[in-house]
Amino acid sequence: MTTQHAFSGARGPDGESHLFYQTRKRRPPIDRAEGIYIWDRAGKRYLDGSSGAMVANIGHSNPRVLEAMRRQMEKATFAYRLHFENEPAERLAAATAELMPEGLDKVFFVSGGSEAVESALKLARQYAVATGQAQRWKVVSRYPSYHGGTLGALAVTGMALMSAPFAPMLRDMPKIPAPTCYLDRDSLTPEERGLRYADMLADEIERQGPETVLAFIMEPVGGASTGALVAPDSYYARIREICDRYGILLIHDEVMSGAGRTGRFLASEHWGVKPDIVTLSKGFAAGYVPLGAMVADRRLVEPVLDAGGFVHGHTYAGNPLACAAGLAVLGEVLDNDLMGNAERIGGLLEAELKGLMARYPFIGDVRGKGLMLAFELVADRDTMEPLPVGHDAHNRLVEIAYGKGLIIYSRRTRGGRKGDHFMVCPPMIATAAQVGEIMDMLTASLDEFAEAAKL
Ligand code: PLP
Repeated sequence: MTTQHAFSGARGPDGESHLFYQTRKRRPPIDRAEGIYIWDRAGKRYLDGSSGAMVANIGHSNPRVLEAMRRQMEKATFAYRLHFENEPAERLAAATAELMPEGLDKVFFVSGGSEAVESALKLARQYAVATGQAQRWKVVSRYPSYHGGTLGALAVTGMALMSAPFAPMLRDMPKIPAPTCYLDRDSLTPEERGLRYADMLADEIERQGPETVLAFIMEPVGGASTGALVAPDSYYARIREICDRYGILLIHDEVMSGAGRTGRFLASEHWGVKPDIVTLSKGFAAGYVPLGAMVADRRLVEPVLDAGGFVHGHTYAGNPLACAAGLAVLGEVLDNDLMGNAERIGGLLEAELKGLMARYPFIGDVRGKGLMLAFELVADRDTMEPLPVGHDAHNRLVEIAYGKGLIIYSRRTRGGRKGDHFMVCPPMIATAAQVGEIMDMLTASLDEFAEAAKL
């Protein structure tokens, strides 16, 4: 007869947790989650106004996804790719390819965003080697930007504090400024500004030596490093044109902006630009399981496979349970027109956030696309001078909102200019009434913050 091991309590004998994350700061334990709400073990309800870290796109505890997972779990939860193919991975790859621009139809599954970016960098490099361009290895990226925490992804990430401790271990990759046009006070039109920022890529390629540059990686809508940064329309096509001019691959990191959050499956669809490689994660499986994907143009994949294979892979690639969940998530997004909802509800939420600017002079900017939205706090809207560090705005406002049961996501930009921005990105199932709830809690939080900070 077997006995079941009785695990001890969650904490060690001295009451200290064995778990650790980035800091000692801890949060209450989660009890359950449903739709756009989460409850902690004390029974307090939170509105998930940031979908976690812009992940829970279809909301929590979706019955169709849970059922698809349960059905797959009863069949097989793991299949090692060297031993077996699996149907959920095959079907999810086909469904994903169908949503991509023409030709971008080869899908490589991974378990998260950083792995997707690593895979993109390595495929780009192996494509260059396989096609007689072995001198190309530099990947230009933007500053600020975030592409992941693993060392390869960190080398192309533009956030000094994240990479500084690892500097000796990183190959420093060239960076150009992200198109933070909302900070510029020149006489250019938005279109002219877009072109000016894009042309910085051509300048950087020339500086580096065009024959050494492999790729350019960018987030079409910036994530947490910039706070939903959107460039003027002219930027996107010009970047594509420059990459083509120099024979450089364009990688769109859509780990956060992809999977429908901006109102299109890929954010780049808003500008009709086709990248050579796309990375997806976060909303792709919406937090039900760890899953990511690197989707590449077949023109890149074929020569690499012909030359002996893609020298890269992870144990959990194409995990059947993860892919079954991802397929059900995609089904929910498509069948319920959640991308249309993200566009409609995003428009409403954006208008409401912009409306706050009349009441709070310290909101300097509201930006984003669909349900990938952010606002930025400043000391002076005319100059866009950031709030003093002592205000600790990015932490304080988040804590005040958390206390009221509203979760928002903040960062103090760690680029050249240090500003506090807050991402408001509820799940794509959010309703107009729930936007009202978000705004009520946010307004109360901003009032309290303004009073405490004497703004
Ligand atoms: N790329 C982008 C644009 C991201 O926003 C993130 C995470 O925030 C990553 C990559 C890294 O993803 P992960 O944290 O799943 O490794």
